Amino acid sequence: MRSSSLVRTLLPSAAVLAGLLVFVSAAMAALGDRTLRQGMSGDDVMQLQRLVTELGYPTPRSGAFTSRTKSDITGYERTTGLTVNGEVDPSEGKTIVRRAQERRDRMNGGSGGGSTRRYHFGERPLYEGRRGGDVMTLQRLVTELGYPTPRYGLFTRRTKRDMLHYERSTGLQVNGVVSLTEQRAIARRAGHGESSRDHVFPIRGPHSYGGSGSRFGAPRSGRRHGGQDLAAASGTPLVAVTNGRVSQVRYQAGAAGYYVVIQGDDRYDYVYMHMRESASAWVSPGQRVRVGQQIGRVGSTGGSTGPHLHFEMWTAHWFDGGHRIDPLAALKRWDAYS
Ligand SMILES: [Zn+2]
Repeated sequence: MRSSSLVRTLLPSAAVLAGLLVFVSAAMAALGDRTLRQGMSGDDVMQLQRLVTELGYPTPRSGAFTSRTKSDITGYERTTGLTVNGEVDPSEGKTIVRRAQERRDRMNGGSGGGSTRRYHFGERPLYEGRRGGDVMTLQRLVTELGYPTPRYGLFTRRTKRDMLHYERSTGLQVNGVVSLTEQRAIARRAGHGESSRDHVFPIRGPHSYGGSGSRFGAPRSGRRHGGQDLAAASGTPLVAVTNGRVSQVRYQAGAAGYYVVIQGDDRYDYVYMHMRESASAWVSPGQRVRVGQQIGRVGSTGGSTGPHLHFEMWTAHWFDGGHRIDPLAALKRWDAYS
């Protein structure tokens, strides 16, 4: 071999250099940075394989996007409402990262036993494998609409089959995935409108959360504040935050004033205090109430210095095995959708 050709052999060609650069950038890429398809490799491919596996769609983790990866990704896309093409563009990559994060959040939140993040109907797409109150709502509404399907609270294979039937029969996109648009259509058809939500804010009208003294746990003389105070004009309607049963309609002079306790179907008890008059004008003990149904009005009876709702949330049940919990996060969530 002549020396000049030896040098040429040792010097990397432009093509090799370019390949090296691609390799380096691929090694550092994160899922969502670029479109991944068969033949590519890199950290982002490895991340894709790991996350999709975590999400319950096992695929070998090699860091190389093989034909096997493509077929597994295609299956994942088909089942979970993504564009079915065996490719993962940046938006799909970000969706997968988000879903894996949500799943991890759920797992962490669920370690205490059932305290997982709750989703309202219409907050996220529903498809096979999903679980929650929103799945239960879907199953209930579709059943009410004349397409009976078992109410598991889990989107099973059977649910998917029933949803395909419903979609086909009623002119929706037939894919077994219930998108947000489709959920709105179903709620509208069921004639529920706002009340198709699992929960609503307890005050129907302008309100404020007040300062630190209004908070759950704020110091009171010799005790702690057991609820969240919400200021609102006297006479503003109070409504059931969720479906349930009225367990108490009472009066306590100098303290709670007129108050009512509702045992929610969600297994929490909700207490409304300082109502303007007895809730008996609207409901009676033992009566079923629907989410959003009026149960009274904001007032200032009992130990109160101005019109407001003192709202408590209890694990089951009020003074019967349960204890108070801070209702603020739930209130804010319901408030955001009122
Ligand atoms: Zn209070």
